[in-house]
Amino acid sequence: MQPLPIYLDNNATTACDPRVLETMLPYFTTQYGNAASRSHSFGWVAEEAVDYAREQVAALIGAVKQEIVFTSGATEAANLAIKGVAETYSGTGNHIITCVTEHKAVIDTCRHLEKKGYRVTWLPVNEEGLVSVEAIAAAITPETILIAIMYANNETGVIQPVKAIGQLAKERNVIFFCDATQAVGKVPVNVLGDDIDLMAFSAHKLYGPKGVGALYVRRKGPRVRLTAQIDGGGHERGMRSGTLNVPGIAGFGKACEICAAEMVTESLRLAALRDHLETGLLALEASRRNGSNVYRLPHTTNISLNYLEGQTLIMTFSKQIALSSGSACTSASMEPSYVLKAMGLDDTLARNALRMGLGRFTTREEIDFAITTITNAVLEMRKISPQWDAFKSGLTQ
Ligand SMILES: *Cc1c(COP(=O)(O)O)cnc(C)c1O
Repeated sequence: MQPLPIYLDNNATTACDPRVLETMLPYFTTQYGNAASRSHSFGWVAEEAVDYAREQVAALIGAVKQEIVFTSGATEAANLAIKGVAETYSGTGNHIITCVTEHKAVIDTCRHLEKKGYRVTWLPVNEEGLVSVEAIAAAITPETILIAIMYANNETGVIQPVKAIGQLAKERNVIFFCDATQAVGKVPVNVLGDDIDLMAFSAHKLYGPKGVGALYVRRKGPRVRLTAQIDGGGHERGMRSGTLNVPGIAGFGKACEICAAEMVTESLRLAALRDHLETGLLALEASRRNGSNVYRLPHTTNISLNYLEGQTLIMTFSKQIALSSGSACTSASMEPSYVLKAMGLDDTLARNALRMGLGRFTTREEIDFAITTITNAVLEMRKISPQWDAFKSGLTQ
C-alpha cells in the first residue's frame, strides 16, 4: 500500500507520473531556451519540444497540432473559449446556453458575460445529473452563439450526451464548447466524432504537471475564430500571448501519450476498483450513490451517507484517507455542493456526500483499507448521532 494518507482525490488533481517528470527535467536544466527564440539552438530545441508535445496532445483527442492552443490550465482555456467566442461573434448574437452543474471556470465566466449584457440560459439537470438535449434544442434562438456543456462532471463523474449535443450544435450552426477536463485521458474523447468545436483540458488532471492546459480550437467545418484574452507577443497564433511553459508543455505531451497507450486497460482496472469501493460503502444503511451509474467516468464515485455530519466524518479519517466532501468552502461557511443540489439532493444529503476519485496509483489494498476505515468511522459516528437515533426509532424516514 502507498503511505498514508491514501489519495482518493484524483478529480482535484493527480500526481505527476514519474515518466512525465523525467521528460520535463531537461527543459529546466540544460535545455532552458525560450521556444520563441529563433536565432540559436536553445530556442530551436525548446520549439521542437513544444512541437512534439503539441502532436502528442492533439493525437489524444483526434485533433491536429495546429488546433491546440497551450494555456495555463483548463480555467484559462474556458475563459478564452467563452469570452473569445462572445467577443468575436457579438455581431451575430448575444445568447449562450450552459448548464447549472458546470465547473466554476465555466459558470463564473458566463456570469461575467451576463454582467456585460449577454443573455445566458442556465439549463437544469435531472436526478441522474444529465442535461436534456431536447432542452438545449428548445433553448436555441437565432441569437445563440455558443453552447457550453461539460464532458464529465468533476464531482459525480457523470458524462453528458456530448455526441448528441455536438450534432445538434452543428445542425443549428452554433459553436459547441466542451470542458473535457475530467474526461480527456480517462475515456476516449474525439473532437471529430463528438463534433466539438472548442475543448478545454488540463495536464494536472491526467498525471501531468500543474499550470499547463490546452484549448482545442477547430480549424475547419467550421473554422472557429476567437478574440484573444491575453495580448502580448502573439504566441499561439495570436490567441494566447506569453512565453510558453516549455517543461510543462513537454510533460503535458508525455502525459497525453501515456494516457493514450494505457487508457483501455487502465479504465477497466479503475472501474473494477470503483465498483468494489461502491459495493463496500453502499452496504452501509442509509447510503446512496449520486449520479448516473451508466453514463459516467470509470474512476469516480459520489456517495452520500445520511444521518451523520459529513464534514466531521471526513475529518475523523483525514489522516488515513484524502478525499473531498459534498461541500465547498466559501468565505465563511461550508456550502452544500451546487452540483448535488441541482440533482435534487437536499442540503443534508449534499453535505454528507463523499466524492472519491481513484487514479493510476490507486491499489486494491488501498480500496480495501478505505472501505474498512470509512465503514468503521460511519458506524462509530452513528452510535452518537441524534439524527441516526431518530431515524432508527422511526421519527424520520
Ligand atoms: C479541474 C477542472 C477545471 C480547472 O482546471 P485547471 O487546469 O485547474 O484550471 C475545469 N473544469 C473541470 C471540469 C475540472 O475538473
